[in-house]
Amino acid sequence: MDGLSVDIRKGETFALVGESGSGKSTVARMAVGLLPVTSGTVTIDGVSMTDVKDSAARQALRKRIQMIFQDPYASLNPRWKVSRIIAEPIHAFGLLKGEAVEARVGELLTLVGLHPDDGKKFPHEFSGGQRQRIAIARALASSAEFIVCDEPTSALDVSVQAQILNLMRDLQKEFGLTYLFISHNLAVVRHMADRIGVMYLGRLVEVSDSKAMFRAPRHPYTRMLLDAVPDLGMTGRQRQMVAGEIPNPINPPSGCTFHPRCPLANERCKREAPAMIDGVACHAVEEGRTGA
Ligand code: SF4
Repeated sequence: MDGLSVDIRKGETFALVGESGSGKSTVARMAVGLLPVTSGTVTIDGVSMTDVKDSAARQALRKRIQMIFQDPYASLNPRWKVSRIIAEPIHAFGLLKGEAVEARVGELLTLVGLHPDDGKKFPHEFSGGQRQRIAIARALASSAEFIVCDEPTSALDVSVQAQILNLMRDLQKEFGLTYLFISHNLAVVRHMADRIGVMYLGRLVEVSDSKAMFRAPRHPYTRMLLDAVPDLGMTGRQRQMVAGEIPNPINPPSGCTFHPRCPLANERCKREAPAMIDGVACHAVEEGRTGA
């Protein structure tokens, strides 16, 4: 990550998009505390996660954040029954005891479209979509408010993807959830996101309202990503397919790191990294030479 700054508003879905290697999943892991932040902070409601020293306060903060992983086959413990998997956060945060835990697990299973008796089964007895429902139930078990979703549907069949996305949206409405949604799939992002941040090599290059971005992408990289998506509604301008590969982040290009792949790159781009101005980090946009 380099100079990444994102504000996610309560109750919204903020999507981070970009190719593999752009750093999306690293952001997701830092947001939930799975990866340490070497500099900078992750702040929830004005409280910095890195500065909370008191363990009770840290627990209270952790309870509010959960994560849904990409692969529902790997993220659920295969040796545990589903009821134990879902109850884990309830026990970990000391939220309920005894029979109340069982009742809450049944309630959560029903909420995600499964049956309370499904808690008696093991993960391998379920399909991929059902497993992701279980993962969602577990994420909700601590009454989390902020859920980081790392490519939550990319391992699922297309028909099942829509069901899971609709479930996530319904739950968001019901409980006022806030999502940080990581995806490389722009069709999914279009369906889910209120706002979108486009990442390239550990930096944000464009942040915009979802509708505005799909209607009129401004950064050359965002345009390339959208041009790769077949969409009859976006005809009317020349398409530029994504060319080249994302460089090695250990040895990034000078200036704007996108310059080796950018059709609008000039000498300034090779020298000088663009600052984020009005939601986009690009010299060509700043200089008004995008031709859009
Ligand atoms: S700053 Fe230059 S190289 Fe980077 S995206 Fe804009 S035009 Fe392209």
